[in-house]
Amino acid sequence: MPDQIRVTLPDGSAREVPEGTTGAQLAAQIGPGLARAAVAIRVNGHVHDLNRPLPDGAKVAILTERDADSLEVLRHSAAHVLATAVREVFPDAGIGFGPAIEEGFYYDFDVPRPFTPDDLEMIEEKMAVVTANDYPFVREVVTRDEANRRFADDPLKLERISELGPDETITVYTDGSFVDLCRGPHLPSTGKLKHFKLLSGAGAYWRGDSSRQMLQRIYGTAFFKKEDLTQHLFRLDEAKKRDHRILGRQLDLFMFHQFAPGAVFWTDRGTAMINELNGFLRELQRDGYHEIRTPLLYNKALWEISGHWGKYQENMFLVLDSETGEHDFSLKPMNCPSHYLMYQAKKHSYKELPLRYNTYDVLHRNEVSGALSGLTRVRQFQQDDCHIFLMERQIQAEVHRLTQFILKYYETFGLKATLKFATRPEERIGTDQMWDEAERALRHALEATGLPYELKPGDGAFYGPKIDFDVEDAIGRKWQLGTIQLDYSNPERFDLKYVGEDNADHRPVIIHRAVSGSFERFIAILIEHFAGAFPLWLAPEQVRVLPIADAQREVASTLTQRLRDAGLRAHLDERTETLNYRIRDGELLHVPYMAVVGQREAEAGTVAVRVRGAGNKQEIVSVEEFVARLDQEVKTRALSS
Ligand SMILES: [Zn+2]
Ligand SMILES: [Zn+2]
Repeated sequence: MPDQIRVTLPDGSAREVPEGTTGAQLAAQIGPGLARAAVAIRVNGHVHDLNRPLPDGAKVAILTERDADSLEVLRHSAAHVLATAVREVFPDAGIGFGPAIEEGFYYDFDVPRPFTPDDLEMIEEKMAVVTANDYPFVREVVTRDEANRRFADDPLKLERISELGPDETITVYTDGSFVDLCRGPHLPSTGKLKHFKLLSGAGAYWRGDSSRQMLQRIYGTAFFKKEDLTQHLFRLDEAKKRDHRILGRQLDLFMFHQFAPGAVFWTDRGTAMINELNGFLRELQRDGYHEIRTPLLYNKALWEISGHWGKYQENMFLVLDSETGEHDFSLKPMNCPSHYLMYQAKKHSYKELPLRYNTYDVLHRNEVSGALSGLTRVRQFQQDDCHIFLMERQIQAEVHRLTQFILKYYETFGLKATLKFATRPEERIGTDQMWDEAERALRHALEATGLPYELKPGDGAFYGPKIDFDVEDAIGRKWQLGTIQLDYSNPERFDLKYVGEDNADHRPVIIHRAVSGSFERFIAILIEHFAGAFPLWLAPEQVRVLPIADAQREVASTLTQRLRDAGLRAHLDERTETLNYRIRDGELLHVPYMAVVGQREAEAGTVAVRVRGAGNKQEIVSVEEFVARLDQEVKTRALSS
């Protein structure tokens, strides 16, 4: 009789099983349902294949598709299935790496030419055969010599083997005819992979090194559930249609130029949107905020105090000082230190606190040019930034106030928000005691709001813990936007004080707050969220006035002026093209309202109103009514007409 070993299940119960029992056998012992659902097993905190024998004394948890780690196992296994199929279609293809990534997986191949869409289709069909054959993923531990022998024809794998340390266990995995050098874990067999899709091919340097050879990467994605795959593909498709770089050009909102990489040229239409967002925030911050403006360029002495010179320099644009010949000036990458200087300059009483400085100043951060992408990765941007100086006992009420403020702002755009609490990162300033205090205070304030939140350990700013706000857009994508960061460190560094009730000096605490993050990125998100069909208050062009014929030009012109006087962005389209052509043109620009003026309307003092999205329906209303309706819709910042 074989020796027994003991494993502990997640509920704390222990089980005796024969030595050599695998995860799959354990699952079967527990129940046939679990055996069918099992994807992998967590053994002492590490995810393992189900087919491996369990070690004595292990803490184990059988993973099903409901466990977050399982998706990575599925997707990485899908990469093996992909390589298996590629090797069947292109037997000479060299193989690189095939990891799971955030939204799927990829595999890099050394082939003489890029993969075509036809190739991908053929490979995908082969993958279906590989999964239908339900090959087990067989794990073998091999010696270095054996590994070198097995991959003798795969120079990329040989290179990898040569880098493995002398004590490292070398494992190879086989599914069907395909053998790969890999650490695992994988699904028990290829048949567990059911819902997958190849998405695209792209060139990729071996190991991301531009001095090495170019490989051909195939991207794909995989899910446990068919509906999850369908939804993901729908989102990808929608995202492509809504791409802000394309819509931004079609809607004439902004442009870029090679002479100013990563900096946006806003057209009058795009500028109108920024001004609206600014105006909305100004309105919300009318009470209790002080809007300020501070310089863009600073001597490094400031960044040395703030810690940016040491911790953030690679992201800063350094500027040559012509007097010293040194790069000892920098454009500000953040507003914070300049706001501390403003605070420092005056004496403050506890009665002034919380003191809120807000700004829309321009910031510069040095992103590598390869990372620049439309409005989402830029070098120059404006934040809706705010720094709040307050007493410790005011933190709770302030965090509550800020949270409500931020959520209300997002709601105006129909963006659903979720909250995250991020704690101390590895790279940080300030003592552990400061961090303890800051984390306790912020968490306490967050919990007092009663809102649910997710914990993100290690994700805080280098000077303090934070609450991050993620929003979900119309097609279910998540974007990180706002932030509330608590800072006990900079008040020390900048020796900030206020005079307390006891007439003695005290340290304030600082809260850093942003709502939309940068306007640039926020507008990108709004373009994609609304697919270019902005709510009236935000639309770059709110009304287009269309006289049917020459005879109505004057009345139409008067109407346009009337709308402009009411504060609306109205445009008169009096071109000689047909009415249908001009209507189509306005529709392409997603203009919310078109006001058609014909003979009858001109005589009666009415307009034929076409509402965006309502097809060919026209409503005849008086000019008075029309102006009042639009005015109301703008004032309430209504989401739809
Ligand atoms: Zn693998
Ligand atoms: Zn700040």
